[in-house]
Amino acid sequence: MLRELNLYPLWVRRDAPTGTGPAVPVPAAKAATVAAENGEQGREQRIAGLDWPELKAMVHDCTACKLRAGCTQTVFGVGDEKAEWLFVGEGPGADEDAQGEPFVGQAGKLLDSMLMSIGLKRGSNVYIANIVKCRPPGNRNPEPDEIATCLPYLERQIALIKPRLIVALGKVAATSLLGREATLGSLRGTLHDFHGTPLIVTYHPAYLLRSPAEKAKAWEDLCRAVQHMSHLSQQG
Ligand code: URA
Repeated sequence: MLRELNLYPLWVRRDAPTGTGPAVPVPAAKAATVAAENGEQGREQRIAGLDWPELKAMVHDCTACKLRAGCTQTVFGVGDEKAEWLFVGEGPGADEDAQGEPFVGQAGKLLDSMLMSIGLKRGSNVYIANIVKCRPPGNRNPEPDEIATCLPYLERQIALIKPRLIVALGKVAATSLLGREATLGSLRGTLHDFHGTPLIVTYHPAYLLRSPAEKAKAWEDLCRAVQHMSHLSQQG
């Protein structure tokens, strides 16, 4: 049973011969942490082996973090499952929660315009997803444990899509994918790497709605992304 729980040989019988494991039983809290980490690794490995239908079903039924209890439905992602372009936002808002599709509210309208400005269209060589699949209450930022729990789903989506380029929309998307804290300003203008896939960072459309003066910078980022994509296409 201990082996099944990944607790063996952390926890050994008091009367076990010495030399067969730790002399002192590992405190319950530590053992629980190790078991949880092992369980988490097992879950991540399972997700990493799923195909599209299995992944969609698992996300649909997911209750792995506290967000699911407060939202209407999970929002998986939308678009061309063989897209060269992947745009990643933060998490569903009220409109997305109601409709089950990412970026369908005001920020989504601006994202569609941003796509159009560089000759792209939702669903055609473009996939749109979020860092978390469930709406955080009151549109707050997703918390680190929620991001950590949900990220394996996006990682699997990325592995299945195999996009040529990822565009991270806003700080939450960028720092979650890059796995480090940084300001959005410091991440813009550089070509980053997400497990071998180039990644460009720009402003979140909802921020641009609040700060329209920054749209010029977002346009610069999109032009850089187009330039990089054509460079990648030339490479074959
Ligand atoms: N904001 C996001 O980050 N994602 C959505 O899907 C909608 C708004």
